[in-house]
Amino acid sequence: MDSNNFPDCMSCDDGVLVPLSDFGAQGAAVHYKAWVCTNPDCEFNLKIRNGEIHINEPIIRGARVR
Ligand SMILES: [Zn+2]
Repeated sequence: MDSNNFPDCMSCDDGVLVPLSDFGAQGAAVHYKAWVCTNPDCEFNLKIRNGEIHINEPIIRGARVR
């Protein structure tokens, strides 16, 4: 199945990497700041911060599980 041209995950065979956005200090949207695998068993992620790329940092979830 074609997945909207998102890049295949480099860490698993099932997921694709989807771009996430964030908001900068001025409230302006920062697009494509992070990429996360869609496979919940994989959770490969890549973030761009201050021009540096951070790969596979621990995921901080919005909802804490216990
Ligand atoms: Zn993956």
